[in-house]
Amino acid sequence: MSNFRFKALEIAQSRQALSVPPPAERVTEYYGSYTFNNEVMRSLLSPEAYLKITQAIDTGGKIDRDIADEVANAMKAWATAKGATHYTHWFQPLTGATAEKHDAFFDVTMDGKAIEKFKGGALVQQEPDASSFPSGGLRNTFEARGYTGWDPSSPAFLMDNGAGGKTLCIPSVFISYTGEALDYKTPLLKALLEMDKAATAVCQYFDRNVTKVTPTLGVEQEYFVVDKALFYARPDLVMAGRSVFGHSPARGQQLEDHYFGTIPPRVNAYMVDFEFEAMKLGMPVRTRHNEVAPGQFEVAPTFEEVNLAIDHNALLMDLMEKVAEKHNFKVLFHEKPFAGINGSGKHNNWSLGTNTGVNLLAPSSKPKESLRFLTFLVNVVKAVHDHADLLRASIASAGNEYRLGANEAPPAIVSVFLGESLTKALEDLETKSEVIVNKGDNVYYKLGINRIPSLLRDNTDRNRTSPFAFTGNKFEFRAVGGGANSASTMTVLNSIVAAQLAAFKQELDARLAAGEKKELAIVEILKEYYKSSKRILFEGNGYSDEWVAEAAKRGLSNIKSTPEALGVYVKPESLELFERVGVMSHAEVESRYEIELEKYIKKVQIESRVVGDLAMNHVVSTALKYLNKLAETAKALVDLGMTAEAEPIKALIQEISSRVITIKKNVEEMTETRKRANAMTDTAEMAKSYATEVKDFFDVIRYEVDKLELIIDDEDWPLVKYRELLFVK
Ligand code: ADP
Ligand code: MG
Repeated sequence: MSNFRFKALEIAQSRQALSVPPPAERVTEYYGSYTFNNEVMRSLLSPEAYLKITQAIDTGGKIDRDIADEVANAMKAWATAKGATHYTHWFQPLTGATAEKHDAFFDVTMDGKAIEKFKGGALVQQEPDASSFPSGGLRNTFEARGYTGWDPSSPAFLMDNGAGGKTLCIPSVFISYTGEALDYKTPLLKALLEMDKAATAVCQYFDRNVTKVTPTLGVEQEYFVVDKALFYARPDLVMAGRSVFGHSPARGQQLEDHYFGTIPPRVNAYMVDFEFEAMKLGMPVRTRHNEVAPGQFEVAPTFEEVNLAIDHNALLMDLMEKVAEKHNFKVLFHEKPFAGINGSGKHNNWSLGTNTGVNLLAPSSKPKESLRFLTFLVNVVKAVHDHADLLRASIASAGNEYRLGANEAPPAIVSVFLGESLTKALEDLETKSEVIVNKGDNVYYKLGINRIPSLLRDNTDRNRTSPFAFTGNKFEFRAVGGGANSASTMTVLNSIVAAQLAAFKQELDARLAAGEKKELAIVEILKEYYKSSKRILFEGNGYSDEWVAEAAKRGLSNIKSTPEALGVYVKPESLELFERVGVMSHAEVESRYEIELEKYIKKVQIESRVVGDLAMNHVVSTALKYLNKLAETAKALVDLGMTAEAEPIKALIQEISSRVITIKKNVEEMTETRKRANAMTDTAEMAKSYATEVKDFFDVIRYEVDKLELIIDDEDWPLVKYRELLFVK
């Protein structure tokens, strides 16, 4: 029998968990051993070079050539001693994948002698042939030049290539010849600097010792694993990263028995393995558990500075893909690989920490600190309120479109959850306007401010349905897609909050100049902010239909399609904002918009082709064969004079042929629609046509195919079924 599905199943079912021996060393021994970290630098660099580089990391100062040479030398010595043969600038182009181009440390001199070579110049800047990376019109393909530049704030690391030795990877930015950002990191670094500047300035009203504010991020990564053989027996998973067909299994996630359940042995071995590799690379992975859907899991690290957390997440995804191979798994980061069960998100836990060790989003019992906390909290709420659509744009992608607004995921409506006690405190702030000024400088607000902390301590409020939830001492942006690079979202979030804090400072300074008292003025401004942004606050079930209606009444956006969401990037007010905070020029934002639209079009286009191919070449052809069998059986029965007995078979034949006809008709129409879309010259129009016309066919075709899956003989069905894909051993 030629059925690939059964061969794959046989292979998958015979597999056992790999035995992964626990690391011989203690975690403190191997943690970060593959990174050129602070400790290594201190031991290998001269005190002067070490000082310069740590200053550069802390304050973004420049590194001169001499120092770069010294660092390059130390890096080379360290890396080659650990078995590295090559080095690469490692960067995050807008394709979404990480990029690397390995160069050997080895070189030959004019007289043919082999030498090891790695100078400061090569560390600081490289010029990959960049013509195939997306630039959204910033760079013509004939002008292929693009530069990668070393980001000293993220430690260089060693990538183990298995038999091929190791490569020294140098985290880098990627810019065009004319200096525009072509990657995720460049605008992110700018946004983080702005955030530091704006937040530090606001902190100064409360504590003069604060000289630096560091945005922090902890990324919870959800993912699915499927057996490699089964994966390759599903062309849709291979081509599009998601299954375009597949009837729900009799048992899905309704029993909710997978969540936090015992981790299947094969997956556990996989987790132990990639976590060990991640720890060596200095990634603080801490949490592992089963997720809600069968076959779905989560990994979460301890939070870090945002830029580092994002590099680590990108690296972790790469690593997980690599290690999966060894365990005969494929890991899926797609936002919605399987219909009818949960999709995968990448929860972005975000906060702000000061050089004095304070978490600015942690409530405090002291009145002055409480006011500072409220200041940051309310400013974040206002920023999210004023720029909700931009946040929505930052998470828009073809994959996330299937997840947002689906019943088990955050809706496409951006709202903020604060929990009962904080909501109450803010309400008090607005309504009970009585503010008591104490003898000292301490001002506190009679009911609210004093009370917040004690209330919060008891209050373990959680709202898993809110896209942007306050979780005690941080915000958790849950709508980010599992496959996304968090940099997009973090660039937007830090930009809008930085802009908001700067506006707050301006307002406050004006009031202070007019002779108002500081604490009173702050409370007054916060009151106004709260009033004007409270419609974004929502405590109820974000997945309910009532909320969709309520949000519409409140005038909140509910942008469902990706092209429409992306369009927000290029609205005049967005362009103005990015320029004001110095994060992206108009041209850079516009190019990003183009790139994201193109990515969307290509993804939907691929899916559409996969839908068409599978429907015709796998499903319809199988259905026709089965139809033939049925027809023969019916004919045999009639020949035997059993006409009545032939009736149910005839009914089956009728159902199958009618479904086949519907499929064929829709596949043809979809192809025609795609052709019309492809002929469009305006990218935005084309994307819209894919979103609203081409995609409409997917569900119609899927419905018929999934019905056929239930009718056609299991022996003949060519596609691995959900029940076979999802329950990993
Ligand atoms: P959950 O209950 O949502 O799984 P946890 O408390 O375990 O949440 O934390 C989830 C993530 O939030 C972790 O990655 C954690 O490191 C991160 N986190 C905790 N505190 C902060 C903070 N101050 N800033 C950023 N992320 C944080
Ligand atoms: Mg969480």
